[in-house]
Amino acid sequence: MTIQNQNIAIIGAGIGGLSAAYDLIQAGKTVTIYEAADHVGGLAAGFKEPHWDWTVERFYHHWFASDQYMLGLIDKLGWSDKVLFPRPVTVMYHQGKFYPFDSIPAALIYPGLGWGINKIRFGLVGLFLRMTKNWQALEKTTVDTWMRKWAGDKVYESMWEPMMIGKFGEEFAKTVNMAWLWARLHARTTRLGTFEGGFQTFADKFAERLRQMGVSIYLNTRIQSIQSTKSSKLELMISSPSQPTETKTFDQVLATTSPALLARLAPGLPENYLKGLLSLKSMGAVVMTFSLKHKLSTEGYYWYNIPKNAGFPFLSLVEHTNFLSPDYFGGDHLVYVGDYLPQDHENFDLSQEEIAQKFIPHFHKFNPNFKPDWVKKTWLSRTKYAQPVPLVNHSKNIPEIKTPLHGLYFASMSQVYPWDRGTNFAVEIGRRAAKLMLNEKMLDSK
Ligand SMILES: Cc1cc2nc3c(=O)[nH]c(=O)nc-3n(C[C@H](O)[C@H](O)[C@H](O)COP(=O)(O)OP(=O)(O)OC[C@H]3O[C@@H](n4cnc5c(N)ncnc54)[C@H](O)[C@@H]3O)c2cc1C
Repeated sequence: MTIQNQNIAIIGAGIGGLSAAYDLIQAGKTVTIYEAADHVGGLAAGFKEPHWDWTVERFYHHWFASDQYMLGLIDKLGWSDKVLFPRPVTVMYHQGKFYPFDSIPAALIYPGLGWGINKIRFGLVGLFLRMTKNWQALEKTTVDTWMRKWAGDKVYESMWEPMMIGKFGEEFAKTVNMAWLWARLHARTTRLGTFEGGFQTFADKFAERLRQMGVSIYLNTRIQSIQSTKSSKLELMISSPSQPTETKTFDQVLATTSPALLARLAPGLPENYLKGLLSLKSMGAVVMTFSLKHKLSTEGYYWYNIPKNAGFPFLSLVEHTNFLSPDYFGGDHLVYVGDYLPQDHENFDLSQEEIAQKFIPHFHKFNPNFKPDWVKKTWLSRTKYAQPVPLVNHSKNIPEIKTPLHGLYFASMSQVYPWDRGTNFAVEIGRRAAKLMLNEKMLDSK
C-alpha cells in the first residue's frame, strides 16, 4: 500500500525540532517548523555584535567529546572540520581561592578534600560511577543519601553538596536522585568543544540545510493551541505579527516546548498525561553576558564553580574568551555570570541594570585590578525552563514521546533522562521522536 504524503508540523526550531525535521524530510514527509522566536536554535541560540566574527551563546554552551549524537549528526552534515575542542581550565572554589579541577592530577592536588582517606573515597566513588551502567539502581535513592553513605559526609559536603545546591537550590538539592549525578559523571568529558562561529552559526547552517531539503521554517510564529479534529488530525492555531491568526491541520505534530507549555497548548490531552506533564519540576536560569575592555581572569581560567555559601550572588562565572580567542569578538573579552534559580526568584523580575549592579561589585574577586568602567555592554538572558529536576524513581514519571492524543508527539529536555539536558540529547530525542512518528504512519498504512 502506498503511504500518503503526510503533513507534519514541528513546534520549535531548537536543536530537538531541527533534528526531528532532518529525519522526517528525508523520509519524504512535508515538514513545517513553527518557531516563536525570531531565530532558530532555542536555548542554544546566540547573538553577535556587528564587529564580532563569531556569535556567542545566550546561555553558556559547549559540547563534550562524548556527545555522540551531536557529533554524529555534524559528521553526517559534513561539518566535522568545523568542530573545535580547545583546552580551557575549570576551577573550584575553596576558602577564598580557586583551584583547577578538570583532570585527575588537578583533583589530586585540590586542597578542598585534605590529603588522606577522603581523597581516596572521592576517587573510588568517581571510579565506580564511571564504571557502573546500572543507573536504575541509583535512581531509587537521592544524591544526598548515596554520597553520604559511600563518599562520606566530608567529601559530599565539600564536593557534591555545593553543586547540588547551586543547581537545584535548597528546595530540591536533597531530593534529586543519584542517577542524575551518575549520568553527569558518565557522559561528560573534560574536553569541551564548540562550532566554528558559535552554536548559532551551527543552528543557522542546519536550518539552511533543512530549507534546501524542503523544510518550511516560520520564525516569529507562535502556536497558540493544539486540538484534535473529528477526522483524527490535529489543528494548530498559529499567530504571527505579520498575519492574522489562522488554523492549519496536520496529520502529525511534534511539540518541543516545556511540559508546562504543552499542557496549556493541548488541554484535550487525557487527564493522566496532563497531570504527568504538570508534575515535572524544573529550575530556571538567569545569565548575564558582559563584554569587557580587558581580560578578567588573570590566570586565564575559563569556568569558575562557586558554592552558594561563598558570598557571591551567582553560581558560575565563565570567561568565554579564555575558551575562545577574543580575536573572534573584535578584541572584546566576554564573561558570563549565571545561576540556576527557582522560577519565582527575584532575578526574573529585576531589570537588566539592577542585575548588572548586583554582579559587577564581585568582579574584583577575580581580578583585583578590575574597574567597573571595563564593562562595555551587558546582555541578559532568562528562562524559567532550564534544568529538569529528577526526583527518586523518576523513570516512572517521564511522559511518553507518543502522547495519547492521536498524532501528537512530545520531545523535550524533561524526557532525555537518565541523561541530563544538553543539545546532544536534544538531537537524540528529536530523532527518536521522528522515528516513532514514521513508525506510526507505517503501521497505520498496513
Ligand atoms: C543555562 C543553560 C546552559 C546550558 N548549557 C549547555 C551546554 O553547555 N551544552 C549543551 O549541549 N547544552 C546545554 N544546555 C541545554 C541545551 O540548551 C538544551 O538541552 C537544548 O538546547 C534543548 O533543545 P530543545 O530543542 O529540546 O528545546 P529548546 O531549545 O527549548 O527549543 C524549543 C523551541 O520551541 C520554541 N517554542 C516554545 N513555545 C513555542 C510556541 N508556542 N510556538 C512556537 N515555538 C515555540 C522556543 O522558542 C524554542 O526555540 C544548556 C541550557 C541552559 C538553559
